[in-house]
This record gives sequence, structure tokens and C-alpha cells, in this order.
Amino acid sequence: LDPDNIEDLITDETSAIIPVHVFGNPCDVDKIEKIAKRNDLKVIYDAAHAFNVKIDGNPIGSYGDISMFSFHATKVFNTIEGGALMYDDNDLTYKFRSIKNFGITPDNEEVQFLGVNAKMNEFEAAMGLINLEYVESAIAKRKIIYEKYLECLSNLEDQGRVKVLRPKDNVEYNYAYFTIKLNTFDEKDHLFNKLPEYNVYAKRYFYPPCNEFPAYDFEKNTPIAKNVSDTILSLPLYLDLTVEDVEKICKIIEIELK
Ligand SMILES: *Cc1c(COP(=O)(O)O)cnc(C)c1O
Repeated sequence: LDPDNIEDLITDETSAIIPVHVFGNPCDVDKIEKIAKRNDLKVIYDAAHAFNVKIDGNPIGSYGDISMFSFHATKVFNTIEGGALMYDDNDLTYKFRSIKNFGITPDNEEVQFLGVNAKMNEFEAAMGLINLEYVESAIAKRKIIYEKYLECLSNLEDQGRVKVLRPKDNVEYNYAYFTIKLNTFDEKDHLFNKLPEYNVYAKRYFYPPCNEFPAYDFEKNTPIAKNVSDTILSLPLYLDLTVEDVEKICKIIEIELK
């Protein structure tokens, strides 16, 4: 979310800004906070990708009014399904406890809120407790894989053939994703279709951009988001991936981009 574009889009109906820390790269939290203060708006961060990320040593969940974390099986820390909300305002706890349980309030069992069934079960909680013990070593492993990708793709990067999305210097990253940006849609498309022939599966994360889905009545004319969505590819990054595999994947990319 480009903070410089936020204020033009605020209307009388606007109550909150909902920025996404995409791929775990933090938004410009300082600028967004100033805009929110100036316009009396709440900030709710989608921090689904940003578990364990820090900005200048501060936990990512300490920014904004609420930060949402996803603990879905595909995330750095997972409970199979599940998530967490981080916030300072204790009054919200009552509301959230109710909403996740069909809107039924915990003290008098009335339905005061429109709710959903978002309860986490015991098995998922147990899975999370175990995963929590390993999450730091898992992130350390991811870092090794991530840095190997950087090293192996440095030639292509120097030649301007690929661009690696990197977190800023003041960010402690979680190495959740290794995402590259190609110069054109055709190059991305070619790679995406060719990699499976080598038994390598990259992901077109956020393709097409969600404002193009028929379910949403959103602004369709977003050329920058469309360009990014058209040209980025997330490369395999998981704990059992070896650095030798990373070398092979990067060689394949080099061959296929020739
Ligand atoms: C995974 C994800 C979500 C959804 O999280 P769930 O736990 O599946 O509800 C939302 N936003 C982003 C950016 C995600 O990656």
C-alpha cells in the first residue's frame, strides 16, 4: 500500500486503513500512523505473512490498532488452521471472544454481535504449541535457504533480468517467502509453466490481483498492482529444501530465461 495514495481515497465512509505486510515486508508504518491520526482512522494490519518480523527491534504486531496473524499450514508458524489478533485495547477482547463463537457473549450467553464460527480446536492448539518450540530454528533454516537464493541469483540480478524483493535494512525478517520480479509477464509465464517440467513448483502469489475477482466490487483500474501481480513469482522455500536444490533451481531459471 503506497502511503502517498491513501489520503486521496479517504471518504466520509472510511473508518479504517487495512494495509498488508506483503510477504512479511513491513509497510511504511510511521507514515500510515500519521495519516490515520490526521484523519481519525483505525489501522488494522494484515500481518498474515509477518510472524516474528521486527522493525527497528520492535515486534511487527505492536504497530496499528490491530494486527492479524494467520497460522494456516502454509505460514512460517502454523497451527494447521488458526490465527491471532494483537491489539492494545482490552475492550476488544470481549467482542472478539463473542464474534469467534457465533456472536455469543461469554458472560451472559446473549448474541450481541454478528458472529462466525472461528474457534480453534484442541488438536490445532497442540500442533501450535509444538511448532512454537521449533519456529526459531525453522526461521534460521529458512535464512540459509533464502541467502543461498540471493547468492545464486546475483548474476541474473546484476544483469537486471530478475529483481529480488528484499526487506529493508532496519527489518528483522522471517524468511517466509523468496519472491522474484521478472521484467515481463511473458517471462514470468514462461518460467511458471516450464519449472514443473523440472519438478519445481513456483507460486503465482496474488495472481490475478484480488480486485479483479468477480466477487468483489472493487476499483478495477490498478495498473501498478496489476504489473506486480503479472510479473512476480514466489520460488520454493521450505524446511527440507537443500542448498543444492536451490543451486539447481537457480540454474534452471538461468537456462529458461536465456
Ligand atoms: C494466509 C493469508 C490470509 C488468510 O489467513 P487465514 O488464516 O487463511 O484466514 C490473509 N492475508 C494474507 C496476506 C495471507 O497470506
